[in-house]
Amino acid sequence: MDIKTYAALHKEELHRIVEALPRPPKLIIIQANDNPASDSYIRGKLKDADSIGADAELRKFDPSISEEDLLKEIEKANLDPTVDGLIVQLPLPNHISEAKVKLAVDPKKDVDGFHPTTGFAPCTPKGIVDYLTAEGFAFRGKNAVVLGRSNIVGKPMAKMLLAKDCNVTVLHSKTSEEDKRFYIAHADLIVIAIGRLGYLNASYQYKEDAVIVDVGINRGEDGKLHGDAEPGLPVKLQTPVPGGVGLLTRLALMDNLVEAMNK
Ligand code: NAP
Repeated sequence: MDIKTYAALHKEELHRIVEALPRPPKLIIIQANDNPASDSYIRGKLKDADSIGADAELRKFDPSISEEDLLKEIEKANLDPTVDGLIVQLPLPNHISEAKVKLAVDPKKDVDGFHPTTGFAPCTPKGIVDYLTAEGFAFRGKNAVVLGRSNIVGKPMAKMLLAKDCNVTVLHSKTSEEDKRFYIAHADLIVIAIGRLGYLNASYQYKEDAVIVDVGINRGEDGKLHGDAEPGLPVKLQTPVPGGVGLLTRLALMDNLVEAMNK
């Protein structure tokens, strides 16, 4: 099933779950930047929350807000019993510590899954695993290659695939080109999250029944969004950009929000 249809059906299901709850789940989004990409991601999150019948509120602050004041705002939402989920939109201004902010969010409300003791799965890897599961991908014993080792995508992705019994190889910027070609050629599943437009291309060899999950979001010279993989590679399934992993990430956030209320 294509990702747009999958996301629409899954949101309908969440809407039915939310309707049966005693009150709508409430999400607070804290923003302290003037970043147009963040504005667009937040619009998407507010729209998703609305479409499943949840309450979502944006609390936007001037990027000059002090770290202390931002931490106070986080604490206010942490202590508010009517708030189920709390996320702080990245990036943060340079004078605010991302690490401190991530640790300040109550792990029980941390629907982004960033806190070290959070009970929530990080949204991008969760969204990917849920979609592949719905597509009938049989994880056990499959060779999975993850390109990129960031804390928000690569590392948690590798961990989740390991938990699904895949044989996981993580490749990064220090991996030799020869090794990359070897591991990619033997992969049943390739998840690429490196932020390099069209990095995976037809010069690599792929298994014909391989699955490529393209996490990358890159602005091309044409002004449009492109993935880390060139479209149309010779594999069984390749997720598109846009209209791919971005939608799965948003969906996982809504799943986590509903779960936060149920907890
Ligand atoms: P990141 O923090 O930008 O780090 C990039 C990772 O890629 C690093 O681990 C780096 O290796 C690795 N890398 C860079 N060049 C490489 C190369 N030539 N070969 C192999 N590995 C290479 O990563 P991120 O935050 O996960 O973002 C990655 C991409 O995913 C970006 O385009 C981002 O916009 C996108 N993204 C999309 C979503 C979504 O919902 N669709 C969510 C999050 C991120 P080293 O560790 O060795 O430096």
